[in-house]
Amino acid sequence: MELVINGLSKTYGNGVKALDNVSLTIPTGMFGLLGPNGAGKSSLMRILATLQEADAGTVMLGDLDVLNQKHEVRKVLGYLPQEFGVYPKVSAYQMLDHIALLKGVIANGERKQLVEALLQKVNLWEHRNRRIAGFSGGMKQRFGIAQALIGDPKLIIVDEPTAGLDPGERNRFYNLLTEIGENVVVILSTHIVQDVQELCNNMAIINMGQLLFAGSPSDALRAAEGHIWEKRISKSELEQHLAAHRVISNKLIAGSPVIHVFNSTRPADDFVPVEPNLEDVFFSHINGILNTTAA
Ligand code: ADP
Repeated sequence: MELVINGLSKTYGNGVKALDNVSLTIPTGMFGLLGPNGAGKSSLMRILATLQEADAGTVMLGDLDVLNQKHEVRKVLGYLPQEFGVYPKVSAYQMLDHIALLKGVIANGERKQLVEALLQKVNLWEHRNRRIAGFSGGMKQRFGIAQALIGDPKLIIVDEPTAGLDPGERNRFYNLLTEIGENVVVILSTHIVQDVQELCNNMAIINMGQLLFAGSPSDALRAAEGHIWEKRISKSELEQHLAAHRVISNKLIAGSPVIHVFNSTRPADDFVPVEPNLEDVFFSHINGILNTTAA
Protein backbone atom coordinates (compact mmCIF):
# COMPACT_ATOMS: atom_id res chain seq x y z
CA MET A 1 0.00 0.00 0.00
CA GLU A 2 1.16 3.51 -0.86
CA LEU A 3 -0.21 6.96 -0.30
CA VAL A 4 -0.06 8.83 -3.60
CA ILE A 5 -0.53 12.59 -3.52
CA ASN A 6 -0.89 14.34 -6.83
CA GLY A 7 -1.04 18.08 -7.55
CA LEU A 8 -2.44 18.99 -4.14
CA SER A 9 -3.13 22.69 -3.57
CA LYS A 10 -4.77 24.66 -0.78
CA THR A 11 -5.25 28.42 -0.48
CA TYR A 12 -6.94 29.84 2.61
CA GLY A 13 -9.57 32.57 2.56
CA ASN A 14 -6.95 35.15 3.54
CA GLY A 15 -4.97 34.38 0.36
CA VAL A 16 -2.22 32.29 2.00
CA LYS A 17 -1.18 29.49 -0.33
CA ALA A 18 -0.48 26.74 2.20
CA LEU A 19 0.06 24.00 -0.42
CA ASP A 20 1.19 24.65 -3.96
CA ASN A 21 0.83 21.73 -6.37
CA VAL A 22 2.37 19.09 -4.07
CA SER A 23 2.97 15.62 -5.53
CA LEU A 24 4.46 12.94 -3.32
CA THR A 25 4.41 9.16 -3.05
CA ILE A 26 4.65 7.80 0.48
CA PRO A 27 5.43 4.11 0.96
CA THR A 28 4.79 2.05 4.10
CA GLY A 29 7.12 2.64 7.03
CA MET A 30 8.06 5.82 8.77
CA PHE A 31 7.97 8.89 6.54
CA GLY A 32 9.24 12.27 7.77
CA LEU A 33 7.64 15.47 6.51
CA LEU A 34 10.11 18.16 7.45
CA GLY A 35 9.53 21.89 7.17
CA PRO A 36 9.87 25.07 9.21
CA ASN A 37 6.87 26.57 11.01
CA GLY A 38 4.33 27.82 8.50
CA ALA A 39 5.60 25.51 5.71
CA GLY A 40 2.20 23.89 5.19
CA LYS A 41 2.72 20.64 7.09
CA SER A 42 -0.41 20.82 9.23
CA SER A 43 -2.51 21.84 6.24
CA LEU A 44 -1.29 18.73 4.42
CA MET A 45 -1.81 16.52 7.50
CA ARG A 46 -5.35 17.82 8.03
CA ILE A 47 -6.25 17.19 4.38
CA LEU A 48 -4.84 13.65 4.56
CA ALA A 49 -6.76 13.11 7.82
CA THR A 50 -10.00 14.13 6.00
CA LEU A 51 -10.48 17.13 8.28
CA GLN A 52 -10.01 19.80 5.67
CA GLU A 53 -10.81 20.21 1.96
CA ALA A 54 -8.16 20.70 -0.72
CA ASP A 55 -8.74 23.08 -3.64
CA ALA A 56 -7.17 20.82 -6.27
CA GLY A 57 -5.38 17.52 -6.59
CA THR A 58 -5.92 13.87 -5.70
CA VAL A 59 -4.84 11.61 -2.86
CA MET A 60 -5.06 7.81 -3.11
CA LEU A 61 -4.42 5.38 -0.26
CA GLY A 62 -4.19 2.10 -2.13
CA ASP A 63 -7.59 1.98 -3.86
CA LEU A 64 -9.21 4.54 -1.59
CA ASP A 65 -9.83 8.05 -2.85
CA VAL A 66 -8.94 9.99 0.31
CA LEU A 67 -10.57 13.28 -0.72
CA ASN A 68 -13.87 11.69 -1.70
CA GLN A 69 -14.21 8.54 0.41
CA LYS A 70 -13.73 10.23 3.75
CA HIS A 71 -15.88 7.81 5.70
CA GLU A 72 -13.93 4.76 4.48
CA VAL A 73 -10.60 6.51 5.06
CA ARG A 74 -11.51 7.33 8.68
CA LYS A 75 -11.94 3.63 9.39
CA VAL A 76 -8.28 2.97 8.54
CA LEU A 77 -6.85 6.22 9.88
CA GLY A 78 -5.05 6.95 13.13
CA TYR A 79 -4.47 10.64 13.73
CA LEU A 80 -2.50 12.39 16.43
CA PRO A 81 -3.12 16.11 15.93
CA GLN A 82 -0.72 18.88 16.84
CA GLU A 83 -3.11 20.17 19.47
CA PHE A 84 -5.12 17.55 21.22
CA GLY A 85 -7.67 20.19 22.22
CA VAL A 86 -8.98 20.31 25.73
CA TYR A 87 -7.59 17.60 27.95
CA PRO A 88 -10.57 16.11 29.62
CA LYS A 89 -10.87 15.66 33.33
CA VAL A 90 -11.50 11.97 32.90
CA SER A 91 -9.09 9.12 33.41
CA ALA A 92 -6.91 7.73 30.61
CA TYR A 93 -8.80 4.44 30.86
CA GLN A 94 -12.25 6.05 30.57
CA MET A 95 -11.18 8.26 27.67
CA LEU A 96 -9.60 5.45 25.68
CA ASP A 97 -12.63 3.26 26.32
CA HIS A 98 -14.87 6.07 25.09
CA ILE A 99 -12.83 6.65 21.91
CA ALA A 100 -12.78 2.91 21.19
CA LEU A 101 -16.57 2.86 21.48
CA LEU A 102 -16.83 5.81 19.08
CA LYS A 103 -14.52 4.01 16.67
CA GLY A 104 -16.94 1.07 16.64
CA VAL A 105 -15.46 -1.40 19.13
CA ILE A 106 -18.90 -2.23 20.50
CA ALA A 107 -18.42 -5.55 22.34
CA ASN A 108 -17.54 -4.84 25.98
CA GLY A 109 -15.11 -7.74 26.39
CA GLU A 110 -13.23 -6.94 23.21
CA ARG A 111 -13.03 -3.26 24.12
CA LYS A 112 -11.71 -4.00 27.61
CA GLN A 113 -9.00 -6.21 26.16
CA LEU A 114 -8.05 -3.60 23.54
CA VAL A 115 -7.93 -0.68 25.98
CA GLU A 116 -5.86 -2.66 28.46
CA ALA A 117 -3.42 -3.81 25.78
CA LEU A 118 -2.99 -0.27 24.43
CA LEU A 119 -2.40 1.22 27.88
CA GLN A 120 0.29 -1.41 28.45
CA LYS A 121 1.81 -0.76 25.04
CA VAL A 122 2.22 2.97 25.56
CA ASN A 123 3.39 2.46 29.13
CA LEU A 124 0.48 4.22 30.79
CA TRP A 125 -0.97 1.20 32.57
CA GLU A 126 0.02 2.33 36.03
CA HIS A 127 -1.44 5.78 35.32
CA ARG A 128 -4.67 4.48 33.82
CA ASN A 129 -6.86 5.92 36.57
CA ARG A 130 -5.27 9.37 36.51
CA ARG A 131 -6.89 12.29 34.70
CA ILE A 132 -5.29 13.07 31.33
CA ALA A 133 -5.41 16.77 32.23
CA GLY A 134 -2.65 16.15 34.77
CA PHE A 135 -0.37 14.18 32.45
CA SER A 136 3.07 15.44 31.36
CA GLY A 137 3.61 16.37 27.70
CA GLY A 138 5.20 13.00 26.97
CA MET A 139 2.37 11.09 28.65
CA LYS A 140 -0.22 13.04 26.66
CA GLN A 141 1.60 12.19 23.43
CA ARG A 142 1.75 8.50 24.37
CA PHE A 143 -1.95 8.60 25.14
CA GLY A 144 -2.39 10.22 21.72
CA ILE A 145 -0.63 7.30 20.07
CA ALA A 146 -2.78 4.80 22.01
CA GLN A 147 -5.98 6.39 20.68
CA ALA A 148 -4.50 6.61 17.16
CA LEU A 149 -3.79 2.86 17.20
CA ILE A 150 -7.41 1.85 17.88
CA GLY A 151 -8.93 0.05 14.91
CA ASP A 152 -5.72 -1.33 13.40
CA PRO A 153 -5.04 1.70 11.17
CA LYS A 154 -3.33 1.51 7.78
CA LEU A 155 -2.44 5.20 7.77
CA ILE A 156 -1.10 6.92 10.87
CA ILE A 157 -0.53 10.66 10.92
CA VAL A 158 1.34 12.34 13.74
CA ASP A 159 1.62 16.10 13.56
CA GLU A 160 4.58 17.71 15.40
CA PRO A 161 4.61 14.99 18.05
CA THR A 162 7.84 15.80 19.88
CA ALA A 163 7.58 19.59 20.14
CA GLY A 164 7.80 20.44 23.82
CA LEU A 165 8.95 17.01 25.01
CA ASP A 166 12.07 16.70 27.14
CA PRO A 167 14.82 14.35 25.82
CA GLY A 168 13.68 11.40 27.95
CA GLU A 169 10.06 11.76 26.88
CA ARG A 170 11.13 12.19 23.28
CA ASN A 171 13.11 8.93 23.42
CA ARG A 172 10.20 7.01 24.89
CA PHE A 173 7.98 8.41 22.15
CA TYR A 174 10.52 7.45 19.43
CA ASN A 175 10.67 3.90 20.79
CA LEU A 176 6.91 3.65 20.69
CA LEU A 177 6.69 4.88 17.10
CA THR A 178 9.29 2.37 15.93
CA GLU A 179 7.11 -0.45 17.25
CA ILE A 180 4.30 0.38 14.84
CA GLY A 181 4.15 -2.23 12.10
CA GLU A 182 6.12 -1.95 8.90
CA ASN A 183 3.02 -2.45 6.79
CA VAL A 184 1.48 0.81 7.89
CA VAL A 185 2.06 4.23 6.31
CA VAL A 186 3.24 6.44 9.17
CA ILE A 187 3.66 10.15 8.43
CA LEU A 188 5.54 12.16 10.98
CA SER A 189 5.26 15.88 10.45
CA THR A 190 7.95 17.86 12.22
CA HIS A 191 10.26 20.87 12.18
CA ILE A 192 12.80 18.90 14.23
CA VAL A 193 15.52 17.41 12.01
CA GLN A 194 16.53 14.91 14.68
CA ASP A 195 13.05 13.31 14.57
CA VAL A 196 13.52 12.45 10.90
CA GLN A 197 17.14 11.47 11.28
CA GLU A 198 16.41 8.93 14.01
CA LEU A 199 13.17 7.47 12.75
CA CYS A 200 12.51 7.76 9.05
CA ASN A 201 13.54 5.70 5.99
CA ASN A 202 11.96 8.24 3.68
CA MET A 203 11.38 11.94 3.90
CA ALA A 204 10.29 15.11 2.21
CA ILE A 205 11.15 18.75 2.82
CA ILE A 206 8.51 21.41 2.28
CA ASN A 207 8.60 25.15 2.61
CA MET A 208 6.06 27.82 1.73
CA GLY A 209 3.70 25.17 0.45
CA GLN A 210 6.20 23.73 -1.99
CA LEU A 211 7.89 20.37 -2.09
CA LEU A 212 11.66 20.92 -2.14
CA PHE A 213 12.95 17.38 -1.72
CA ALA A 214 11.62 13.83 -1.59
CA GLY A 215 13.72 10.73 -1.09
CA SER A 216 15.68 8.89 1.57
CA PRO A 217 17.77 10.72 4.17
CA SER A 218 20.87 9.18 2.56
CA ASP A 219 19.86 10.61 -0.85
CA ALA A 220 19.42 13.94 0.87
CA LEU A 221 22.88 13.76 2.42
CA ARG A 222 24.51 12.65 -0.83
CA ALA A 223 23.26 15.76 -2.61
CA ALA A 224 25.22 17.94 -0.19
CA GLU A 225 28.35 15.81 -0.02
CA GLY A 226 31.58 17.78 -0.61
CA HIS A 227 29.68 21.07 -0.34
CA ILE A 228 29.65 21.80 3.38
CA TRP A 229 32.50 23.81 4.92
CA GLU A 230 32.99 24.75 8.52
CA LYS A 231 34.77 27.57 10.27
CA ARG A 232 35.02 28.78 13.85
CA ILE A 233 34.88 32.55 13.91
CA SER A 234 34.67 35.32 16.47
CA LYS A 235 31.34 37.05 17.05
CA SER A 236 32.58 40.26 15.44
CA GLU A 237 33.34 38.42 12.17
CA LEU A 238 29.83 37.01 11.80
CA GLU A 239 28.31 39.88 9.88
CA GLN A 240 31.10 39.88 7.32
CA HIS A 241 30.87 36.10 6.80
CA LEU A 242 27.11 36.27 6.36
CA ALA A 243 27.64 38.83 3.61
CA ALA A 244 30.50 36.98 1.90
CA HIS A 245 29.33 33.34 1.97
CA ARG A 246 26.25 31.17 1.69
CA VAL A 247 26.02 30.52 5.42
CA ILE A 248 23.47 27.80 6.12
CA SER A 249 23.92 27.53 9.86
CA ASN A 250 25.47 29.45 12.64
CA LYS A 251 25.80 27.81 16.02
CA LEU A 252 27.46 28.84 19.22
CA ILE A 253 29.83 26.12 20.37
CA ALA A 254 31.47 26.82 23.73
CA GLY A 255 30.60 30.47 23.31
CA SER A 256 31.97 31.18 19.83
CA PRO A 257 30.11 30.91 16.53
CA VAL A 258 30.78 27.95 14.23
CA ILE A 259 29.40 28.50 10.76
CA HIS A 260 28.57 26.04 8.00
CA VAL A 261 28.82 27.32 4.46
CA PHE A 262 27.50 25.67 1.30
CA ASN A 263 29.92 25.86 -1.62
CA SER A 264 31.23 23.55 -4.34
CA THR A 265 34.83 24.56 -3.59
CA ARG A 266 36.64 25.63 -0.41
CA PRO A 267 35.37 29.17 0.28
CA ALA A 268 38.68 30.31 1.84
CA ASP A 269 41.84 28.75 3.27
CA ASP A 270 40.64 28.58 6.84
CA PHE A 271 37.46 26.58 6.10
CA VAL A 272 37.51 22.83 6.71
CA PRO A 273 35.33 20.32 4.83
CA VAL A 274 32.75 18.45 6.94
CA GLU A 275 30.41 15.53 6.28
CA PRO A 276 26.95 17.00 5.70
CA ASN A 277 24.34 16.26 8.33
CA LEU A 278 20.60 16.35 7.75
CA GLU A 279 20.36 19.79 9.30
CA ASP A 280 22.84 21.14 6.68
CA VAL A 281 20.70 19.63 3.94
CA PHE A 282 17.50 20.98 5.47
CA PHE A 283 18.80 24.55 5.76
CA SER A 284 20.34 24.40 2.27
CA HIS A 285 16.91 23.54 0.86
CA ILE A 286 15.02 26.04 2.99
CA ASN A 287 17.40 28.82 1.94
CA GLY A 288 17.00 27.93 -1.71
CA ILE A 289 20.66 26.88 -2.10
CA LEU A 290 20.17 23.19 -2.79
CA ASN A 291 17.82 22.31 -5.57
CA THR A 292 17.20 18.62 -5.98
CA THR A 293 14.15 16.46 -6.22
CA ALA A 294 15.69 13.02 -5.97
CA ALA A 295 12.32 11.32 -5.57
P1 ADP B 1 2.99 24.22 9.46
O1 ADP B 1 2.17 23.10 10.01
O2 ADP B 1 4.10 23.75 8.57
O3 ADP B 1 3.47 25.16 10.54
P2 ADP B 1 0.48 25.27 8.41
O4 ADP B 1 -0.12 24.31 7.47
O5 ADP B 1 -0.09 25.34 9.80
O6 ADP B 1 2.06 25.08 8.47
O7 ADP B 1 0.37 26.73 7.80
C1 ADP B 1 0.77 27.04 6.47
C2 ADP B 1 0.40 28.50 6.18
O8 ADP B 1 -1.03 28.61 6.14
C3 ADP B 1 0.86 29.48 7.24
O9 ADP B 1 1.22 30.68 6.58
C4 ADP B 1 -0.36 29.68 8.10
O10 ADP B 1 -0.35 30.94 8.72
C5 ADP B 1 -1.48 29.55 7.11
N1 ADP B 1 -2.73 28.99 7.70
C6 ADP B 1 -2.84 27.80 8.34
N2 ADP B 1 -4.12 27.58 8.70
C7 ADP B 1 -4.83 28.65 8.30
C8 ADP B 1 -6.21 29.03 8.36
N3 ADP B 1 -7.11 28.24 8.92
N4 ADP B 1 -6.57 30.21 7.81
C9 ADP B 1 -5.66 31.01 7.23
N5 ADP B 1 -4.34 30.72 7.12
C10 ADP B 1 -3.93 29.56 7.64
